[in-house]
Amino acid sequence: MLYPSKMVLQRGASERGEGVYTEYMTDAEQACNNAAESLSRDIYPSRMVLQRGASERGEEVYTEYMTDAEQACNNAAESLLRGIIDSHCHLDRLDLTPYGNSLDAALDAARNVGVSHFLCVSVDMNNCHSVLQIAHTYPDVSASVGLHPAEQDTIEPSLDDLLKLASDEVVIAIGETGLDYYHVQGDRTWQQERFRCHIRAARELGKPLIIHTREASEDTIRILKEEKAHEVGGVMHCFTETLSVAKQAMELGFYISFSGIITFKNATDLQSLVKHIPLDRMLIETDSPYLAPMPYRGKPNEPAYVKYVAEKIAELLELDYAIIAKATSDNFYRLFC
Ligand SMILES: [Zn+2]
Ligand SMILES: [Zn+2]
Repeated sequence: MLYPSKMVLQRGASERGEGVYTEYMTDAEQACNNAAESLSRDIYPSRMVLQRGASERGEEVYTEYMTDAEQACNNAAESLLRGIIDSHCHLDRLDLTPYGNSLDAALDAARNVGVSHFLCVSVDMNNCHSVLQIAHTYPDVSASVGLHPAEQDTIEPSLDDLLKLASDEVVIAIGETGLDYYHVQGDRTWQQERFRCHIRAARELGKPLIIHTREASEDTIRILKEEKAHEVGGVMHCFTETLSVAKQAMELGFYISFSGIITFKNATDLQSLVKHIPLDRMLIETDSPYLAPMPYRGKPNEPAYVKYVAEKIAELLELDYAIIAKATSDNFYRLFC
């Protein structure tokens, strides 16, 4: 958790029937006020009145009148305690050497910086068993089932295989799937068929899709439309495409997920693009062990680093970190739960 809360909320009622809160100043409250301030600046027309006094013990005491902004403030404080979510990681592939080969220790490092949930993503029919096992071991880890579009010389799952594996209760998504024309040249019919098969599985199970697309955005959007992927929606993971592709995906009910790439100095296009993605359509991820964000670029990535992605987005949008944490966590639960 970022802020060990000592916040005490005492509710009374004014004579005019308004609810009145008295809050004692703590780290959590400071964070809460910051969040409320940026919320009221950007979203809520604030009627919030802050009156500053001082208790006899020297504590600073704030009295706030109940308004939209205060409600937002409380929500933001709550989300600080709830943390951020790594919506795409490959926990079975992490470099665990710094953690004495303990996955739990690596997850703890993430939990300690406020990561409250992990979506561990399958890439083929072999590793999906480890992914499922990890999700069954840790209550804060969920799983996906799927075969990566760039995987060749591997077992091709039938629709039935996918349905069977993905009906496990820890599986909240189908993927990663999609199209990758960067890694696969020549005939790509098999890749498109694989993609269609995953979309059919997702629709049958009513579970959203995790889409990987590289140098194939036009066909990706076309196939999503042809296969009626809007019925389940999903996420365009590790997004690096254009705003036009993002808009087409969002029209189909998809979310846009930002990875460590957004922290790279040369990722100026992506850094401008994020400003055009509505807050209620945004997710964050590490894609660990790949694509470590700054300041760890080039090193093995791990789920704890998702906070650098959230921090960068907050900086680019000039919003409080708590706003990004809350929005992306809310989005995650809305999409996957
Ligand atoms: Zn991917
Ligand atoms: Zn991935």
